[in-house]
Amino acid sequence: MFKINENYLKLPGSYLFSTIAKKVAAYKAENPDKTVISLGIGDVTLPLAPAVISRLHSAVDEMAVKETFRGYAPDLGYEFLRSAIVKNDYLARGAQIAIDEIFVSDGAKSDSGNIGEIFSVDNRIAVCDPVYPVYVDSNVMAGRAGDYLPDQGKFSNVIYMPCTAENNFMPALPEETPDIIYLCFPNNPTGTTIPKAELQKWVDYALEKGAVIIYDAAYEAYISEDDVAHTIYECEGADRCAIELRSFSKNAGFTGTRLGFTVIPKALKCGDVSLNSLWARRHGTKFNGAPYIIQAAGETVYSPEGQAQTKEMVAYYMENAAAIRAGLEAGGYTVFGGINAPYIWMKTPDGMSSWDFFDYLLKGANVVGTPGSGFGPHGEGYFRLTAFGSHESTQEALARIRSL
Ligand code: PLP
Repeated sequence: MFKINENYLKLPGSYLFSTIAKKVAAYKAENPDKTVISLGIGDVTLPLAPAVISRLHSAVDEMAVKETFRGYAPDLGYEFLRSAIVKNDYLARGAQIAIDEIFVSDGAKSDSGNIGEIFSVDNRIAVCDPVYPVYVDSNVMAGRAGDYLPDQGKFSNVIYMPCTAENNFMPALPEETPDIIYLCFPNNPTGTTIPKAELQKWVDYALEKGAVIIYDAAYEAYISEDDVAHTIYECEGADRCAIELRSFSKNAGFTGTRLGFTVIPKALKCGDVSLNSLWARRHGTKFNGAPYIIQAAGETVYSPEGQAQTKEMVAYYMENAAAIRAGLEAGGYTVFGGINAPYIWMKTPDGMSSWDFFDYLLKGANVVGTPGSGFGPHGEGYFRLTAFGSHESTQEALARIRSL
């Protein structure tokens, strides 16, 4: 008789965004005359950049010709893409990352969910609270998180690092020592980040404790302040303690196109064992590469036209972020984030719970956001709005919220 992975049974309820989708669908069914605006899920809305589209077309044409047709991609990704990544994302920022330290993938969600496979189940993880749910859920599936404690909304073997307005959304170094530390800056969901000097403290801490940092930099393109690191490898010693996850989803609108990469420096070791070679083994065994046409389009993101066009998309979204911040502040709300990230994290008014505010906004303004408590217990009393809508729908949503 087969047995299932019982760790899956420890996962509470349904995925946050399915719950939201169900509530919105029920509301729309009861109120077919209402137009609901979603500033909820973190998905982009602008079409792909013209340079990217043009390269996708030409790459498709290459696949139609015997001489230029491509089959399986090289294990770590095409060299043309990995060289563009190294040159633009790392060497240009003073980070000495080599081409064989880059692993091209189909996105940061898979990488953040899969990376745990190269670590023992005995490791203790630390996460920010609130947090991007994938880090916790994938560790629950692996059997590393312990048991769910429903009264606390936490897992028994996870170290939670609260990030609230009181500590400026900067996690404190944990009292209990973790083995694996998940950090995401600029942060989803809070839309905030930490200065490079603070990030350096995490690197120093990880080196001192022998911990590894899994650093999710999916929102790097949204950084506007000078003192924020674009990659953790700007910090001294990070090549000996950090894995970095990157994505083409939010900088170039590849959420439906799928491309990302993971960086594992060869200096990052557990005793004599290099994590780079473990991940190379895993990648080679379980992944057959992102499609050629997508990697070719990814390379174009680094071309002068690609850079100019994708920066314009990011700027468009950040205009929304600035408008949401200003509009909500003028309406008397307390808001955070939205300066180095496309998310605005607001305090719910009058001590309302996150889900009560969700219902209030859905019914009163026909606007959908994401309840902060869905990201962890310390997200309670907060609410996330995204800047990924159009200017028009964002303005309309703001006007509706302000007229409540
Ligand atoms: N990491 C964070 C923090 C995210 O917010 C998201 C998507 O919302 C991802 C990773 C997923 O990225 P990708 O689309 O590359 O899988």
